[in-house]
Amino acid sequence: MSNAPIIGHYINGQEQDASERFSDVFNPATGAVQARVALAELKTVDQAVAAAQAAFPAWADQSSLRRARVMFKFKELLDKHHDELAEIICREHGKVFSDAKGEVVRGIEIVEFACGAPSLLKSDFSDNIGGGIDNWNLRQPLGVCAGVTPFNFPVMVPLWMIPMALVTGNCFILKPSERDPSASLLMARLLKQAGLPDGVFNVVQGDKVAVDALLQHKGIEAISFVGSTPIAEYIHQQGTAHGKRVQALGGAKNHMIVMPDADLDQAADALIGAAYGSAGERCMAISIAVVVGDVGRKLIDKLLPRIDSLKVGNGMNADSDMGPLVTAVHKNKVEGYIDQGVKEGAKLIVDGRNFKVPGAENGFFVGATLFDEVTPDMAIYKEEIFGPVLGIVHVPDFAAAVELINAHEFGNGVSCFTSDGGVARAFARTIKVGMVGINVPIPVPMAWHSFGGWKRSLFGDHHAYGEEGLRFYSRYKSVMQRWPDSIAKGAEFSMPTAK
Ligand code: NAD
Repeated sequence: MSNAPIIGHYINGQEQDASERFSDVFNPATGAVQARVALAELKTVDQAVAAAQAAFPAWADQSSLRRARVMFKFKELLDKHHDELAEIICREHGKVFSDAKGEVVRGIEIVEFACGAPSLLKSDFSDNIGGGIDNWNLRQPLGVCAGVTPFNFPVMVPLWMIPMALVTGNCFILKPSERDPSASLLMARLLKQAGLPDGVFNVVQGDKVAVDALLQHKGIEAISFVGSTPIAEYIHQQGTAHGKRVQALGGAKNHMIVMPDADLDQAADALIGAAYGSAGERCMAISIAVVVGDVGRKLIDKLLPRIDSLKVGNGMNADSDMGPLVTAVHKNKVEGYIDQGVKEGAKLIVDGRNFKVPGAENGFFVGATLFDEVTPDMAIYKEEIFGPVLGIVHVPDFAAAVELINAHEFGNGVSCFTSDGGVARAFARTIKVGMVGINVPIPVPMAWHSFGGWKRSLFGDHHAYGEEGLRFYSRYKSVMQRWPDSIAKGAEFSMPTAK
């Protein structure tokens, strides 16, 4: 569809859409191509890095209060354009409007946190450590940083990075997902309106070519990545090999333990939202319910009517609970996993394959799917499906549930539904997962905490946003100072110690 509108780059405060290569952007609810996104080559990345490098000295030299004021204004503009952002998300990603609005709110919360930059960047000061000497520390910007983001949160995940990178005094280049690239451009325009100088924030659209150019570019100091585990591992390996600081958040397989003492109505409600919300395309989606003892049958009885009443349709329809998957390729992949689960012997209780929404037959829909009797050797247990597929695994007791989860290669999110405080405490302390919920199905940390998994769900030392994000985007410097009237005469040859 050659007359489809073109979604371009944003470099040095200007939009530019010239490109040698393009990729189709679909409306997942109808299956139609609605736009084409430019795919950057090395020279476009070079332009973006040059613009950011030119803008860096002045931006880094601004007071943190002035940088925070841009964030205050940006927050106001995000509020004003809240519905517009949510509509863009619905149109390109497919999730339902209310969910898209929630995504924008969670992104705005990081901007609000970043507004506290002057206080967050305050340093520690040790007065008179001895001999008239004072010692303090600074957190200074790194330089030009880049972010590579996934399709499933086209506003929230970029906002995990942008405000943190900017208030710490860095310039930033965002490479959003080529599957839903438009929100990044609206955010770029809003940042400019908020008073951000040209070149401080840039968007380069693209695929592996652009990402590799960023990874190898000598002008880039740090890369934040969020996406699937194989690519996260690649980004971490390549980025560190090229001397960069890297945080690379990867994929997930999140479990929810349901204990015999749990309130099963609450557990069933939580599972329905966490497994099928956003069609399962969330890195914190629950895809495995671990049922303890004889809970399984009772829980399935609670789940079935809830699945039956789920409304699947275009995300822009007010009554839809669940929208389509992002592309036809992804829909085929998810349906392939359902085929495989059947072949491997799991019991398919609700089959979402070949799901058709009347009037939107070409949309990329998969219905809610439920498997019972899933075992740890099956691909549908081991691998991330990233679709509306919930599997049930039976275990005899709590210890077996913890052992199962701890043995999984991913460790992003986890939840336990129980009314026993002792179980809850043991769960929080012994589970090898980065984000833990107790009677909370999707425990996404607030903006002033930090987000990240363990094991093969995160490569690098820092979690995203919060204090960890602040540390990731700044370099620690220690300063020691004294003035001539306190300096003793003569050279000293022994190790200086506090006097
Ligand atoms: P993806 O890994 O396919 O793509 C992520 C980004 O990497 C995109 O910008 C893409 O253009 C780029 N990319 C893709 N292939 C590449 C390659 N070969 N070389 C270099 N760059 C490449 O992920 P996705 O499908 O967009 O998003 C879904 C995945 O993201 C899921 O695995 C989900 O769990 C994960 N995710 C994780 C978190 C988290 O916080 N841990 C959050 C959101 C999503």
